[in-house]
Amino acid sequence: MQIAFDNSYTTLPDRFYSAVPPSPVSDPQLIALNEGLAATLGLDANALRSPEGLAMLAGNALPDGAAGIAQAYAGHQFGGWVPQLGDGRALLLGEVVGRDGKRRDIQLKGSGPTPYSRMGDGRAWLGPVLREYIVSEAMAALGIPTTRALAAVSTGDPVHRERVFPGAVLTRVASSHIRVGTFQYFAAREDGEALQALTDHAISRHYPEAQGPLGLLASVVEAQADLITKWMGVGFIHGVMNTDNMSVAGETIDYGPCAFLDAYHPQTVFSSIDRMGRYAYGKQPEIAVWNLAQLATALLPLMGADRDKAIEQATEVVQGFADSFAAAWDRVFAAKLGLDTPREGDAAMAYDLLRRMALGEADFTRTFRALTGPDPKAARAEFKDPTAFDAWVTGWQARIEHIPHTKRIAAMQAVNPALIPRNHRMEEAIQAALKGDFAPFHRLNAALATPFAEPADSDLMQAPEPEEEVRATFCGT
Ligand code: AMP
Ligand code: MG
Repeated sequence: MQIAFDNSYTTLPDRFYSAVPPSPVSDPQLIALNEGLAATLGLDANALRSPEGLAMLAGNALPDGAAGIAQAYAGHQFGGWVPQLGDGRALLLGEVVGRDGKRRDIQLKGSGPTPYSRMGDGRAWLGPVLREYIVSEAMAALGIPTTRALAAVSTGDPVHRERVFPGAVLTRVASSHIRVGTFQYFAAREDGEALQALTDHAISRHYPEAQGPLGLLASVVEAQADLITKWMGVGFIHGVMNTDNMSVAGETIDYGPCAFLDAYHPQTVFSSIDRMGRYAYGKQPEIAVWNLAQLATALLPLMGADRDKAIEQATEVVQGFADSFAAAWDRVFAAKLGLDTPREGDAAMAYDLLRRMALGEADFTRTFRALTGPDPKAARAEFKDPTAFDAWVTGWQARIEHIPHTKRIAAMQAVNPALIPRNHRMEEAIQAALKGDFAPFHRLNAALATPFAEPADSDLMQAPEPEEEVRATFCGT
């Protein structure tokens, strides 16, 4: 397996990571290989499928030139400070520069223990691996910045959780794995030298135009405002927005108990461990600001000797999230409603619809998609009390009257997906996979590759029946 690794993270000081070999598995089998992504990365899909390629994807062999490191980081988990986290079940194989000129990390997830594993076994089971594969690829197809899935491999080894599950390894691809928590790790150790090196590294890698720590902070704030708005626009709930799960590159990262809204309600929470609703759908912008304030705090020591001035400047930058987010939110929801040149009252119209959807338990994806159809009144079926929709729709119809019909429909269909990875469908795919049947997993992936087109299998567009509904999701750690 020849891969032209071009590793930059390993040029950083030793205390940034631990070199550790992956732990071999007994019987690796390829579940899925993302050939399109392999091509973008400049990797040969046939070589990845070969016994040598499979050995790499399973963690049974480190190819020549691989970095083979677990990265150190810290973080706030549910608001509580944890000084030492790090890749406890992941291993950076290395970086490659793709055919598109972009540098990306290739990382194994579930490849065995590392010095950062704490009490964990360093492994992953099939369920979370398939979930991350499905959701991260669906997010990419929806046009949302995200880490990607290059491959999923079953290991042949048991993984012990609430019961025994088959083990699996995901190969994850990311612009980088630098987290807010990576900055916090060095800030907490008052390691100014490392903080400076990490800042320079992050700037040259992600925001070459940014000037210094304040410029980096501003770039991350913008990237996160854009990202969170995109999540809101498709009803995505990350579920564990801890600072160690927030990427400085602005990509969605660490798919655990994430889920998409079925019925719209801003307080929706799926994660079984999020008992206080800290990471509820509607709280995500606020939590992003909280996390960005932690990044700002970590960067303060690099912002000059005048600490008061630095705090003032950093605060202003973080507070800039509110305006960036509001403007982006208005744009995203105006587009979802097919509204053209902005007018006074557009955002209010969107909020009014959402309020009625919450009261009417309307399905988020289906309601917006129905508005793109030849008869927008089809959306009324999504509301418990359809007259609440009727009272809204006349105002909207008056607002869009002047826009050519076909033009508006095409524009709306390009931003309102017909298909999202619904929890009950993922659960169905995982349950089938546990019985050795990967067909539902592949069917779901194939359909989600073109989420703005109506899938041939219309059942994938249905909201769950009450008995199919998945109300809680698990980290799977
Ligand atoms: P996460 O919930 O995925 O954000 O993980 C939080 C922390 O726990 C990270 O440092 C992970 O590396 C670590 N972790 C999660 N699962 C495991 C596991 N099975 N073995 C070792 N470490 C783990
Ligand atoms: Mg994590």
